[in-house]
Amino acid sequence: MNITTPLASLRTGAPETAAAPETFDTRELQRLDSAHYLHPFTDHAALRARGARVIVRGDGIYLWDSEGKRIIDGMAGLWCVNVGYGRASIADAVHAQLLQLPFYNSFFNTTNVPALRLAALLAELSPGAAFQHVFFTGSGSEANDTVLRMVRRYWQLAGQPQRDILIGRRNGYHGSTVAAASLGGMAGMHAQGGLPIPGIHHIGQPSYAEGGRGMSEAAFGLAAAGWLEDKILELGPERVAAFIGEPVQGAGGVIIPPATYWPEIRRICDKYGILLVSDEVICGFGRLGRWFGCELMGFQPDLIAFAKGVTSGYVPLGGVLVGARVAQLLAEQGGEFQHGFTYSGHPAACAAALENIRILRAEGLVERVAQETGPYLKACFAALATHPLVGHAETCGLAAALTLVRGKGAGVHDCAPFAPQQAVGMLCRKHMFENGIIMRAVGERMIVAPPLSITTAQIDEMAERIRACLDLTLDEVTARGWMA
Ligand SMILES: *Cc1c(COP(=O)(O)O)cnc(C)c1O
Repeated sequence: MNITTPLASLRTGAPETAAAPETFDTRELQRLDSAHYLHPFTDHAALRARGARVIVRGDGIYLWDSEGKRIIDGMAGLWCVNVGYGRASIADAVHAQLLQLPFYNSFFNTTNVPALRLAALLAELSPGAAFQHVFFTGSGSEANDTVLRMVRRYWQLAGQPQRDILIGRRNGYHGSTVAAASLGGMAGMHAQGGLPIPGIHHIGQPSYAEGGRGMSEAAFGLAAAGWLEDKILELGPERVAAFIGEPVQGAGGVIIPPATYWPEIRRICDKYGILLVSDEVICGFGRLGRWFGCELMGFQPDLIAFAKGVTSGYVPLGGVLVGARVAQLLAEQGGEFQHGFTYSGHPAACAAALENIRILRAEGLVERVAQETGPYLKACFAALATHPLVGHAETCGLAAALTLVRGKGAGVHDCAPFAPQQAVGMLCRKHMFENGIIMRAVGERMIVAPPLSITTAQIDEMAERIRACLDLTLDEVTARGWMA
């Protein structure tokens, strides 16, 4: 293989008209991919055997692969393409900024126009306009690393440097860098890296299906929040700096806490003077029908981590919104905070975010999730929950999960689960992928989080395809003798 071969030579034809998209040599692309590209969170032996699906184009809620096949993207990329694919105005904004000023740093008493404009806009959009400062990063993981460093710096400045412990949750996801993976509670990630790092502890997740047997949802929400108080008392309240959680756990499988949970978490944090951090990397920018998930869940955090939807994934960007309590010490009297990234406040990324937020506002997409598409998705998923393979369905805004079971029951605690090693979620995901819809499988939970630009007609199209693939999955697991 001549490694200087330009990408263009891997295409077997050029587009003749808009109706005849360019074609690709899929086999050769897959060979190169397997030979050289280490993918995130991927079993490479399995990928080599199968060959990666090559995604070449997107428009609205649809993707096209190198074989010309159209796919509904039920996952908005990776929970991030909130305004949908193919937005020329974002490309134009980035293009113009790259020509004007592609990069300059913000380290040494300099700034750039898109970054300061975006900071001011985020301050205005933040819950209660109570977050008047923002620290920019390149990703959600870097945002949560920033959270850890910022929280510890805050307590130094507050004269309580011994407060250095952060508490997260089992099955929470906060990213993949060392600190972010430690804050997260993914056992598999911890096992491969000697994590968590010292000073990070975890409590259980507020999953009613998992832990609420024999309790009302409201009682379970209070009990699950109480685990935080137990942990604080176990560690010593004078040692605990902050608690971090996602309003709705995304990667953990769309775990929607009872309404009683977050206000009680806030009350407990206040009782012991502990900072509360909302990881809004998925929930922020409209996913739950509010600009930020904490607004729906009824709590006011001290810090907000964001990424993904801030640019709809068109260009990488993340950051931390800083509330008054931390800003007062850190931004107004703290001296130099020795932390930052080359790409903090990258002009092109900030230009993408400004245009993305303009679209979200101009098209009323956040309100549409609350008033129209969110309730519509909830109704469609409630209908899918009647399928023999589905135990229960949960939705919150445009995030939703179906739990696959071998036997249905009256309530979430009465279903007969599949054995994890049967990997029925992955089997279902395979049928979805082959039939033109992307859903994510988290164990037996089948997840969607489509672009916020999805229409009700497209939700119908998505739900129809999901039902057809559930039928195919049911046929297969029935043939294997796995149904109750
Ligand atoms: C994706 C995600 C992250 C990590 O963001 P990256 O941009 O992948 O580093 C952090 N928190 C949550 C809740 C996420 O979903």
